[in-house]
Amino acid sequence: MKDIAIILGIRPDVIRASKILKLLESSNNLTYDFIWSGQHYSENMKDVFFEQLNVPKPNVEFEIEKGNDAAIVSSVIKNIYNHLEKNKYKAVIFLGDTNTVMGSIAVAQHNIPIVHIEGCMRSYDWRMPEEKYRTTIDHLSDRIYAYLDGYKNQGLKEGISEQIIKVTGNPIVDIINENKNLFESGDQFLSQEISKLIEKDEFLLATVHRRENVLEESSLKEIVNLINKTDKNVIFPMGYTTQKKMKEFNLNLNSNVYVCDPIGYLEFMHLLGRSDYVLSDSGTVVEEACILGTASIQLRFSTERPEVYDVESSVKFDPSEKHTDYESFISKVESLKNTNWEQPFGDGTASEKIVQDLVNLSDTDSFKKHAPSDYPFDISNSLKG
Ligand code: UDP
Repeated sequence: MKDIAIILGIRPDVIRASKILKLLESSNNLTYDFIWSGQHYSENMKDVFFEQLNVPKPNVEFEIEKGNDAAIVSSVIKNIYNHLEKNKYKAVIFLGDTNTVMGSIAVAQHNIPIVHIEGCMRSYDWRMPEEKYRTTIDHLSDRIYAYLDGYKNQGLKEGISEQIIKVTGNPIVDIINENKNLFESGDQFLSQEISKLIEKDEFLLATVHRRENVLEESSLKEIVNLINKTDKNVIFPMGYTTQKKMKEFNLNLNSNVYVCDPIGYLEFMHLLGRSDYVLSDSGTVVEEACILGTASIQLRFSTERPEVYDVESSVKFDPSEKHTDYESFISKVESLKNTNWEQPFGDGTASEKIVQDLVNLSDTDSFKKHAPSDYPFDISNSLKG
């Protein structure tokens, strides 16, 4: 029987947890199962990341139903529940705010301790399913790794016990520090078309995948209008749902925009480091851009990562609003290009801190929920009798 299980399911999970997985693999003090929930499954949304970052592959993979969010979540819950019937781990670890983390319900049903990496981030935008998911798993968790003090404070305000929150820094810094040389040589994986486009001229990068942007015609149109106002070459690795919706809404990008399927991590990071700036609605991409010194336009109404605005590495563009002044966003981000900011995400030791803490907790078998006396408010009523 393994000590713990880590359950991941989407592209950025593999990237962000890559060092954690390598440290778990080489640990003599902790045994683990790596379970893939099955949420992302295609070669360029999953396998390429294991290969390029040399990450140990999952030893358990679920086959789940795909149809819609309810099908995915219920199928992940069922699969985890059945797996736990035979595997009584000391704890089960999740990361982030996706359909996969809702599998934590099954872990709660078995009353096995839950660990949440990327805990206590909040956009305070209750229209986003992700906000509901991350709030739910934080309140089910027995151990939370929060990247920054500010996130921990958000958890405390919700009454989560200070005893279970540990601040670690953001593991994406670890990944960028460790793989900088690989990003340098990432150009070897670029297609001929992209290599040609970036040969001489300055270029921009774009990614759009969030459901509130992609499924909403007016929001996707605002993003297309903004991108069409740029005059440099734009490389736009476009997710499959976005491609489908662009066709369905009959939206067209100008000829300076090169659209392709999603690309591998090393070539993406190569482009991100060299691009003039990036337009993106991805939480991870704006963090990565900030760390690499690339400015960004964040295509979102609200964010759970306000630090990029605090250090002025990013400009906000809200696609849910109707705009007429697209040029002003472009000149704002152009003006950030030559400024220097200090990345606010940590010192590159987050993965080590997380794995060390898991080893300590597993050693003493102390994953179990904090004592009632740890609650940051009076609970004496519930102990009456
Ligand atoms: N990424 C990639 N190839 C692409 C687009 C993105 O490798 O074509 C990487 C990117 O560097 C980041 C992650 O995928 O690490 C972001 O994934 P996504 O935007 O799907 O998720 P989010 O960050 O919004 O959760």
